[in-house]
Amino acid sequence: MVEDKLSFIKEVKRRRTFAIISHPDAGKTTLTEKFLLYGGAIRSAGSVKSRRSAKYAVSDWMEIEKQRGISVTSSVLQFEYDDFCINILDTPGHQDFSEDTYRTLMAADSAVMVIDCSKGVEDQTKKLFQVCKMRGIPIFTFINKMDRMGKDPFDLMEDIENVLGIRSCPVNWPIGSGKNFKGVYNRHENQIEVFNDGNHGQSIAETITGDLSDEKFTGLLGETLHEQLKSDIELLDIAGDNFSLEEVLNGNLTPVFFGSALTNFGVEPFLKSFLDITTPPKARASNLGEINPESTNFSGFIFKIQANMNPAHRDRIAFLRICSGKFDKGMVVNHVQKGKKVKLAQPQQFVATDRVIVDSAYPGDIIGIHDPGIFNIGDTLCQDDSKLEYADIPQFAPEHFARISTTNSLKRKQFLKGITQLSEEGAIQVYKRPNIGMEELIIGVVGVLQFEVLEYRLKNEYGVEVSKQLLPYRHIRWIANEGIDTSDLSLTMDSMLVVNKNEQPVLLFQNEWSIRHILERNEGIELKEHS
Ligand code: GDP
Repeated sequence: MVEDKLSFIKEVKRRRTFAIISHPDAGKTTLTEKFLLYGGAIRSAGSVKSRRSAKYAVSDWMEIEKQRGISVTSSVLQFEYDDFCINILDTPGHQDFSEDTYRTLMAADSAVMVIDCSKGVEDQTKKLFQVCKMRGIPIFTFINKMDRMGKDPFDLMEDIENVLGIRSCPVNWPIGSGKNFKGVYNRHENQIEVFNDGNHGQSIAETITGDLSDEKFTGLLGETLHEQLKSDIELLDIAGDNFSLEEVLNGNLTPVFFGSALTNFGVEPFLKSFLDITTPPKARASNLGEINPESTNFSGFIFKIQANMNPAHRDRIAFLRICSGKFDKGMVVNHVQKGKKVKLAQPQQFVATDRVIVDSAYPGDIIGIHDPGIFNIGDTLCQDDSKLEYADIPQFAPEHFARISTTNSLKRKQFLKGITQLSEEGAIQVYKRPNIGMEELIIGVVGVLQFEVLEYRLKNEYGVEVSKQLLPYRHIRWIANEGIDTSDLSLTMDSMLVVNKNEQPVLLFQNEWSIRHILERNEGIELKEHS
């Protein structure tokens, strides 16, 4: 028994679960692939992508992603490196799918932020960074594409601090850039790593290491680069922020690394330091207080639901983040919100390029469980009979709305089935006009491309064609007054009254001004920004 407990704790301690975030094209997919390469999970780089070529990334499941060359849904990958068991949560880069990313970040213990060295901090990075910050997730920065001419490393650090408002501390520092990018200097270990050119990133990069003052580097790097490096490091030591693990873990300081995912330069030094600095799964907040991952009571929450990932099977998978205790295949757990027992029979994990059935899993791991339509995002599963519930996963307010109806009334049933499915996945939010039937719905989404996904999936998975009319509303407010008679409301031309699935009244507005107008015209009305 004691041995069981010890080996369980060992498993928890070697888990690292993180999300990778970036603006599209910064190199998130390439970096993920290189992690898999270093972990030995794939044999040669290039087997995962490129997305714009005929091949597609492991993380790109849907046909639409292949067609458009963007990643629509997040995926999960597990691999081993250096005795660590790593769970990567990949997130779609395109801003229109950010609600998926927001939810996925709830399942991560830390985040890697990939930045393109020629662009600096971009819009989408800013948004995702804010979500991490809100949740206090530690953020690690990988400045990518150093094999290309980019901004000066000192300017990039300043950019991170000014635009994102987080202090930064370089753990490694680039030696040269562009064609002259020769390697990195690890400040923690006072070690230079110079890379051998290798074979353009197909296999892992070989390195020559030594300390900063080692004479051999003058020959290897040339005198100018070696001197430049020494003076950069001197400046950083005097003027830079000091490294503090506590500040990193509190999300106030980001450790910064430089490299090139494409050529593999700097990938392994980053991975090693990152794994070393990040922590195993931490205790999580719940209605019963903080739950320690090392508690033997198995528990976890569902953060994502995805249907029809495999068109041949028409399956529906709920993604569960394990928070405490050991998971064993076939175990019976309590579905807390539904008050039901559920057997977890065919749990899947996503290992490199495959899906496999797992026998056991540990805190920090993500497993996919078959969902016969009983799970919702945010549901808690636990082994004992406590009424444990993990904190709710916030729903993000939609910013775009459209009127959607079936073109064929005989397909009404399939239409509603598809709409219900997509709303349960969290991809769309469904409203209707009061006193109007379900043939015509008002759909709200965070990004407009979600409408395309909706149309595509309804057609391909449910055989339903729809007509869509985009509406000019950009803001949503929930009416908080209990039992209000909405027929008494005085509305304006630029607002619309709808109800959600629980018949609660909701108002849609074209602009901020119309929200103020409604508040003035309807004394006592209370509008909430969240449901
Ligand atoms: P994502 O959209 O963030 O997942 O970015 P990708 O990984 O798809 O990369 C976008 C493009 O940048 C692709 O053409 C990659 O080959 C290229 N790329 C990625 N990393 C590097 C790098 O380190 N150097 C250079 N030169 N190109 C890179």
